[in-house]
Amino acid sequence: MAKSLLDKVWEAHTVLQLPSGQTQLFVGLHLVHEVTSPQAFQMLRELDLPVLFPDRTVATVDHIIPTHTAARPFEDEQAETMMSEIERNTREFGITLYDRASGHQGIVHVIGPEMGLTQPGLTIACGDSHTSTHGAFGAIAFGIGTSQVRDVLASQCLAIEKPRIRRIEVDGALPPGVYAKDVILHIIRTLGVKGGVGYAYEYGGSTFDGMTMEERMTVCNMSIEGGARCGYVNPDQTTFDYLRGRPLAPQGADFERAVAWWKGMASDPGAAYDAVTRLDATRLTPVVTWGINPGQAIGIGERIPAVGEFADDERDVVEDAYAYMDWTPGTPIAGTRIDVAFIGSCTNGRISDLREAARVAQLGRVRPSVKAIVVPGSQEVARQAEAEGLPDVFRAAGFEWRLPGCSMCLAMNPDKLSGRQICASSSNRNFKGRQGSPSGRTLLMSPAMVAAAAIEGAVTDVRALLGRT
Ligand code: SF4
Repeated sequence: MAKSLLDKVWEAHTVLQLPSGQTQLFVGLHLVHEVTSPQAFQMLRELDLPVLFPDRTVATVDHIIPTHTAARPFEDEQAETMMSEIERNTREFGITLYDRASGHQGIVHVIGPEMGLTQPGLTIACGDSHTSTHGAFGAIAFGIGTSQVRDVLASQCLAIEKPRIRRIEVDGALPPGVYAKDVILHIIRTLGVKGGVGYAYEYGGSTFDGMTMEERMTVCNMSIEGGARCGYVNPDQTTFDYLRGRPLAPQGADFERAVAWWKGMASDPGAAYDAVTRLDATRLTPVVTWGINPGQAIGIGERIPAVGEFADDERDVVEDAYAYMDWTPGTPIAGTRIDVAFIGSCTNGRISDLREAARVAQLGRVRPSVKAIVVPGSQEVARQAEAEGLPDVFRAAGFEWRLPGCSMCLAMNPDKLSGRQICASSSNRNFKGRQGSPSGRTLLMSPAMVAAAAIEGAVTDVRALLGRT
């Protein structure tokens, strides 16, 4: 019988069917960061339990780490405590920690792939919602809570329900100036932020076939924003080429053996899906969010919709969005003034994102009224960018070039909005207060669009700036 990748990975990792209907699922790789792990390690200590598979557990620091300085101790005492905790916990429980001294520190969803830890057919768990990123490789990757972090540390297993599968087929080449970020924002706009509840999203079709691994990561990263438990792309030659030679990927003959197994984990032709959605990529334009969830998004040429344009069950949240964002319905989104531009995060802080943003940045200068920062996703991304001269391009245009971390995506560090500032952001969440100010406003868009907004001082169509319209 034809099977999907989800079916195959699930079967390969099932330890037991639990009476609750859940599966006891073995976790192939556990990624740990400083925010959701301290209590979990403490619970292990209280139970006198070791970490069962320290060699399948890898830690880094990303959320709280300042991006303007590498100095210790951190100015923020709570951040310093979390940093000291993860240093102590990883030392005590025998886990590798990629801190700044290692040269491999970065956002957990950036370093897993770039180190070659993220591989097809794996189950991956991490105490962070955007663990879905790793699905780009054909892994089944879940974000988990702190008590589940404890469970995985102690048993390498999760009790979890198997999701249904929605295949999302997108076909056609992306028009110039339209990026993977626009594709996933369009998908979430189309299916809604709850459209994926109970589902894994399997992304297929010629648009995804033609994407690089970094583009696929951007798409899978935001699966969770569409409500899906996880999202994945079937592994193919693009996946294998990306992984070949990565430091922690299999090497030599082991790599060829792994490729044969990885190929076998892809969904079979004729696999059954619980739902299928088909979309056309050829007519997409750059997408920008206007509201307080990533589904409240429109094309750059559109106007902010009126409440009456929404279904009855959406009106409360739409009214809430208007009240918070303070927009006038019917206003074009293009031309919306911005105060801050943020390029970075696990959605769009990779080298290809920075290259594209730099291509735009070199076309002008950041408006004096705008604070613009570029935060590489990892030390490796920063090294690559420096080798290509990208920090100089950004600095010459008036952007600040920062040290790697989550930065202003979640603002658990000194990078925060203040007051009612409006931020053009390449991150993944535009929830109320997400970027550090309880009244701050976030507009999600691609990194190239953020760079264009920084130069114009307002939301603008990057295609015009690139002379592509
Ligand atoms: S960049 Fe943002 S979404 Fe990604 S791991 Fe960090 S805080 Fe979470």
